[in-house]
Amino acid sequence: MSAAKFEQIGQTLRDNKRFAILSHVRPDGDALGSQLALGLSLKKLGKDVRIWNEDGMLDKYGFLSSSKLLTKPPAEPQDFDVAIALDTAIQNRLGNTVAAIKSAKVWINIDHHPSNPGYGDIVYIDPHAPATGQILFELMTNQKLPIDPAIAENLYAAISTDTGSFQYPNTTTRTFEIAAELVRAGVDVGRVSQLTYESYPRRRVELLRDLLGTMRFNANDRVASFSLSLATAKKLGVLPEDNEGLIDHLRAIRGVIVAVFFEELADGKVRVSMRSKSEKVNVCAICEKFGGGGHVLAAGARVKGTLDEVEQKVLEEVRNVVSRSGS
Ligand code: AMP
Ligand code: MN
Ligand code: MN
Repeated sequence: MSAAKFEQIGQTLRDNKRFAILSHVRPDGDALGSQLALGLSLKKLGKDVRIWNEDGMLDKYGFLSSSKLLTKPPAEPQDFDVAIALDTAIQNRLGNTVAAIKSAKVWINIDHHPSNPGYGDIVYIDPHAPATGQILFELMTNQKLPIDPAIAENLYAAISTDTGSFQYPNTTTRTFEIAAELVRAGVDVGRVSQLTYESYPRRRVELLRDLLGTMRFNANDRVASFSLSLATAKKLGVLPEDNEGLIDHLRAIRGVIVAVFFEELADGKVRVSMRSKSEKVNVCAICEKFGGGGHVLAAGARVKGTLDEVEQKVLEEVRNVVSRSGS
């Protein structure tokens, strides 16, 4: 199944000329690393490639090889042979990049979210892969697409960030084998790790200090949460990208099964980020109830309402699910 699908994707990549590579809004390392890796590989094949994200390249991932190739989409739509969505559970999370595609003969959807409904003409979803970057490595090696040190670095960053630096339970023997292959292909592990995990701006740690002040516990300390208001974000001058990973401080508490992060947005909604430490508590299912999605152990949603309203509604649902799970 996967070999035939890889062959179909490989054929489509070889047979066409103009490509747009897209991923989700509020991108993470897997989104940006995957976009750059596939884009660079196609460029090496002589293809005409655009790599677009609604948010453009984030400052903190600016160290990635050839990061400047990833830009915000232009106002004027363009024609393509193939548009490729990477790491994007639901089409509307492609944001304003879709409007920049005037036409595309084929849409390819490559992802690892179990909640992905399979939009597009050629769909490859492997919910067991810990990162879209891992699927791309398998595709590239299977289809003999070029992997140079720059491509390897982007794939390594994609896999490292989505596995919590090779710690989450979705990290498999295959993940370590692939990491070894990528290091063999030229990745400088120390460089990538330091730039990814030891180069935070000071305001991110100041944000953490503030968030810990709002920390609360529910369901006999099995649920931990904290929240960020617009006023605090403004006061500290934080960027949306600053809070990626802060929720792990809640997950890291012994006895906590579910961690929840609430972030007030400017559009009257609250971004909810959720992590679970037990397969018995499926946070993707919880987030789907609120119009979101993701993975069993890591999911999110954007919920209409004030910070207080959304906190109350969501925490009640989490409490119920945790209590029912017997965890
Ligand atoms: P985050 O908490 O933002 O790091 O997201 C955790 C996981 O949930 C990621 O795999 C996201 O793709 C997914 N996710 C986050 N927000 C949403 C949303 N609004 N709709 C669907 N999936 C989401
Ligand atoms: Mn992602
Ligand atoms: Mn991912």
